[in-house]
Amino acid sequence: MRLSKAHFKTLRETPNDAEIPSHVLLLRAGMIKKTAAGIYTYMPMGLRVIHKIEQIVREEMDAKGAQEIRTSVLQPGELWEESGRWAAYGPEMWRVTDRNGRGFCLGPTAEEIFTDLIRQDVTSYRQLPLNVYQITDKFRDEARPRYGMMRSRNFIMKDAYSFDKDEAGLDKSYKDMYDAYTNVYTRLGLTFRPVEADTGAIGGSNSHEFTALCEYGESEIAYCTSCDMAATVEKAACVDAKEETCEMLEMEKVSTPGTKTIEEVAAFLGISEDRTVKALLFQKYDVTGKEDGIVACFIRGDRALNMTKLVNALDIPEYLIQFADEAKLGSIGAVAGFTGPTGLHDCTVIVDSELTKMKNLVAGACEENCHIKNVNYGRDYKADIICDLKTLKEGDKCPVCGGVIKHARGVEVGQVFKLGTKYSKPMNAVYKDENQQDQLMYMGCYGIGVSRTFQAIIDMENNHDDNGIIWPMSCAPYHVIVTVVKPGDPVQDEVAEKIYDTLRKNNVEVLLDDRDERPGVKFKDADLIGIPVRITVGKKAGEGVVEYKLRRDQDKTEMSVEDAVKAATEIVNKERFGR
Ligand code: ATP
Ligand code: MG
Repeated sequence: MRLSKAHFKTLRETPNDAEIPSHVLLLRAGMIKKTAAGIYTYMPMGLRVIHKIEQIVREEMDAKGAQEIRTSVLQPGELWEESGRWAAYGPEMWRVTDRNGRGFCLGPTAEEIFTDLIRQDVTSYRQLPLNVYQITDKFRDEARPRYGMMRSRNFIMKDAYSFDKDEAGLDKSYKDMYDAYTNVYTRLGLTFRPVEADTGAIGGSNSHEFTALCEYGESEIAYCTSCDMAATVEKAACVDAKEETCEMLEMEKVSTPGTKTIEEVAAFLGISEDRTVKALLFQKYDVTGKEDGIVACFIRGDRALNMTKLVNALDIPEYLIQFADEAKLGSIGAVAGFTGPTGLHDCTVIVDSELTKMKNLVAGACEENCHIKNVNYGRDYKADIICDLKTLKEGDKCPVCGGVIKHARGVEVGQVFKLGTKYSKPMNAVYKDENQQDQLMYMGCYGIGVSRTFQAIIDMENNHDDNGIIWPMSCAPYHVIVTVVKPGDPVQDEVAEKIYDTLRKNNVEVLLDDRDERPGVKFKDADLIGIPVRITVGKKAGEGVVEYKLRRDQDKTEMSVEDAVKAATEIVNKERFGR
């Protein structure tokens, strides 16, 4: 491609609403353009990268025997009614109505449509296992679209669905996809870690997220410094404090004026925060938006509540719960800042398992400016649900080996799920076994955020610097840029054209910067768009000498035209498949 003929525009300034390097650089490099909040256009150079990522995904999926198909992004609401998700999915789903009033959605994911396809086509055990996938636009009306392609409202996802006869078959399909994902992210130059994950709105029994590690990521993972335990903080199990066997003391009401927070109560009474009980009150809603009761959660004072564990315990999606309005607290006997488990009524009480093992704690008295000492589970209050409600923090004990936990940030670039019969059961996706008996299919589903990955690649430490993007060869929009210092100079033009032609004959993808611009502008642009190899044709072109430089290195080397072409071809061939 000749840059003089390309639709190509870079920006010198940092765009206003871009906060993280990858978003800034994609906009500055002219690879994407914002259309509306969370909605972007891929410009020519960006789209080339997207195509390369998609191709790598395809190759790794196909290598595991998966087959590509493509469904419509418009999905009939009836299929979602069948699985029960039409109501449960919530406001993230873009719903549309056709001229006859029939409900559709713009697919946020596609479990229903794939389950429907396969239940129609597969009748016998002989047709299983199967794995089908697509790479299409997905739509989610995210509450907080941000960071460009990282959390957009229209994004590209590869979604695959496996269908097996039984659980053992699913285990194998899951492992295949886990391995395929590992290959994809390795080829794309990501530093990543697969971690155990919650199953969220997709459901199922087991799940792993693939997290590209970088400080700007929205995901937080907890990992053990001694064993290989790694999980999202939403998912990570916690170890309860040891069971206390001391005697229960008499409850005693104490005056604690103005002590609304755990910190204040602990300081006032001269105790540590882990001897107190923290109360968190939530309002539940049903799917029509009507209030559906108040939930009171109790955890140890120094712990943080884990919202994912809470909504899982209640078996509701997260959008159906929010902090309770203070004005409503009276209806359950609660008092803001002084709520404890002993004085409540007419609400669902959920207690962290740890509290049931501890003795003589301090809790709110459900009375203004008062707390109660020596509160004990069982004797003084009971729970509707007891479970692990807390977040595994840095420095906590590893739930597997007792080692020390650390946290790291990252970007969730993909997730794999063991669905089991979560969809095949309500949608009756069955096959006939060897004995002509109907059996439910065992399903898995596997997503890669193609457009999010596109951006996450740039956020990797090695893939950007102050001057711009440094694409890995495997997904660079072009492999080589040939920069002509003085276009119009017959010697420089001739040498540049020769390099351009030879490299293209060698199957190398080349960008020829033949624009009538100052050399400084061209070098800046070449750095910004991150082409891995630059060959500069300048003053010494007459002697057959050019400058060769790799984007990732500082050094520039003068060499003959032939050597430069050879070096470029060699490095491209060595790195283009990213293995
Ligand atoms: P998140 O927790 O970040 O909202 P998710 O767990 O809801 O994502 P999945 O349903 O697992 O997402 O979708 C598969 C993949 O699609 C994710 O791993 C992610 O890479 C990508 N993805 C999901 N939502 C978005 C989005 N709003 N913008 C860009 N990519 C997304
Ligand atoms: Mg996910």
